[in-house]
Amino acid sequence: MNVLTFDIEEWYLEKALKGDRKERYAQFDAYLDEILNLLDKTGMKATFFCVGKMAVHFPEVIRLISERGHEIGCHSDVHTWLNKMTRHEAMEDTHIAVDSLEQCIGKKVLSYRAPAFSIGENNKWAFEILSEFGIKRDASIYPASRDFGGFPNFGSKEPTIVSYGGISIKEFPICTTSLFGKEFAYSGGGYFRFFPLWFVKREMKKAPYSMCYFHIGDLLPETNGLMSRKAYEDYFKENGSLLNRYKRYFKSNFGKKNAWDKLQKLIVSVDFQNLDEVDSQIDWSKCRKISLD
Ligand SMILES: [Zn+2]
Repeated sequence: MNVLTFDIEEWYLEKALKGDRKERYAQFDAYLDEILNLLDKTGMKATFFCVGKMAVHFPEVIRLISERGHEIGCHSDVHTWLNKMTRHEAMEDTHIAVDSLEQCIGKKVLSYRAPAFSIGENNKWAFEILSEFGIKRDASIYPASRDFGGFPNFGSKEPTIVSYGGISIKEFPICTTSLFGKEFAYSGGGYFRFFPLWFVKREMKKAPYSMCYFHIGDLLPETNGLMSRKAYEDYFKENGSLLNRYKRYFKSNFGKKNAWDKLQKLIVSVDFQNLDEVDSQIDWSKCRKISLD
């Protein structure tokens, strides 16, 4: 089974942080349109994890996706990483985000993805928060090491029932593959842009489960500039040395020229489903169960 997901935040980040440029909104709308048309053509449904503030400032974008039959999931409220928030802040963020999205589409929101896969060993309490606000499915775990976290000891690369603090939640982790003795994601974000399409498809075919994830920003052909030290430190909350900023520059720009073309080829050649569909087809009694207590 192959899960297709998109994380939707660009419109809000443009408004809040990047200068509110009209031409950018038109560009995001155009890419979203192309994605929705392509999914209609192939008859496939995806899960779109949206930040709560999109439902407040750009409700027409969220409704458009929902009305075309796709699942709306939650991607936090303002795209602050969960591991940069206190438990109390994360609770407020999740509460506001889920409420805003549900009011916007008139449906329950059941799926969640933390920005930058920011649930790990140090903030496992996030699962309790998600459960408290009605989330049944999470797709925030990167089960290997990565910049800014990951959860290398998670112990599963497939759909898993996670229990923690008396609650349980269905986890759909990012899938990884072993290369030179290290685990890497390959089916989304910068990893998808980095690896050739034949490699991504081969790895997906080998695995019983894959999780693809994209931001519209991953697909735009133009490159992002080098961030200023202040902007980097404000956003990532770590040292904005030239080396760190160049690493980020490389990661956010590599392979951008072909990314959209590559994604279209992937979508027309692989059978994808959204989380809602996959959830209903899994025999959960036979799945792995992991206790994080
Ligand atoms: Zn995101």
